[in-house]
Amino acid sequence: MNYIKVKGTYDVLPTEAENWVALESYVRQLFKTYNYGEIRTPMMEYSNVIHRETELSDMVIKETYNFKDKSDRDLTLRPEGTAGVIRSYVENKLYAQAGVTKLYYMGPNFRYERPQKGRFRQFMQFGCEVLGSNEPSIDAEVIELAYETIYRLGLKQVSVKLNSLGDDDSKRNYRQALIDFLTPVKEKLSKDSQDRLTNNPLRILDSKDPADIELIKDAPLPLDYLNETSKKHFEAVLELLNLMNIPYEIDKKLVRGLDYYAHTVFEIHATIKGFGAQNALGGGGRYQNLVKELGGPDTPGIGYAFGMERLLSALEQEGIALTSPKQLDVYFITFDQQSRKKAIELQHHLRSENILSDIDHLNRGFKPQLKEALRYDSKYIIIIGENELNNNVVQLKNTKTEEQVEVSMDTLTDTLKELL
Ligand code: AMP
Repeated sequence: MNYIKVKGTYDVLPTEAENWVALESYVRQLFKTYNYGEIRTPMMEYSNVIHRETELSDMVIKETYNFKDKSDRDLTLRPEGTAGVIRSYVENKLYAQAGVTKLYYMGPNFRYERPQKGRFRQFMQFGCEVLGSNEPSIDAEVIELAYETIYRLGLKQVSVKLNSLGDDDSKRNYRQALIDFLTPVKEKLSKDSQDRLTNNPLRILDSKDPADIELIKDAPLPLDYLNETSKKHFEAVLELLNLMNIPYEIDKKLVRGLDYYAHTVFEIHATIKGFGAQNALGGGGRYQNLVKELGGPDTPGIGYAFGMERLLSALEQEGIALTSPKQLDVYFITFDQQSRKKAIELQHHLRSENILSDIDHLNRGFKPQLKEALRYDSKYIIIIGENELNNNVVQLKNTKTEEQVEVSMDTLTDTLKELL
């Protein structure tokens, strides 16, 4: 029998885990700076939270993990963060607080997609949702935050793409114009796009199919269908981004995977050569109806999500390290039961002062112990033999300079605290 990981999943081993922890702390710190509070929602939701009547995107219809629990309830593993966060916002009546609610989240999502480079069936996202404001300043803040996320990490080869779909009114008019434009050539569209023509025609703009790309070359674009209010909103967002010197490109064909988006939509792409087809690091946009749909008051929202695996691989490819290589402060080398016992006692004191330390647990000889110390790139080795035991001292050796000094066991912790 084979025991293997589920297709499309991956294990995080200790060396990689350090990068994950570093990225997670970085994200938390950044959100704190922008005054966002963390929200943690369950990984599974009742299916109706995810499969709403208006949500006809492929991701939700075809790619979710749906199952029944033992009491015959329909459950879905969350494919993205927003729906659960909004469900929680409504259920916990967070809207009753005055003002704007700024939330961020981090955790795994599940999509039954075809696994490939940068695409998994369980993947990690962090993201934010801001609820309760229609002001363009919050669109600008969320885009600023998305940009800062990559900028502060040091990623250079990225581009911010921006578009506006306009309000419901503009979207409706545009949708009709697109249907009118594509219906006469329907037969020439790819099978997927033919299906989309009635369900969510906007997604056709996003198609990677060469025939579709050719057909939509001269298609009407969302920006041309913005009504006055929507146009003003978008211009105000751009003005603020310009004020903050946030670089962006207008991508007139940008639509997002989910149907609920309106007004501002944006994506951040890695432009590194060889990054692969899955180069969207993150994306988001405004949504006006989601809170209402999930049983709450008429409250607008805007948010984004970043894929953490893709961020980590972009960092790796740009040669940016989030962590310094693992290094021990000290490694104890002992020769017998007596010296080992003493070392364990001393080590306990060092560790209580947060000095990183380790010791051999295989009763090995001097050479293998030294080898292990070097493998951990330990800054110091501490040698305790019979002589040292009798004289209540240790030999403290700096592994770089090879300088060795004798230190009293009683002052070892203080000496190391000074040296490190
Ligand atoms: P989406 O909501 O699909 O736009 O996803 C937002 C971000 O999550 C994307 O830009 C990716 O970085 C990441 N992402 C989405 N789906 C996957 C997946 N299947 N595997 C890995 N990352 C993903």
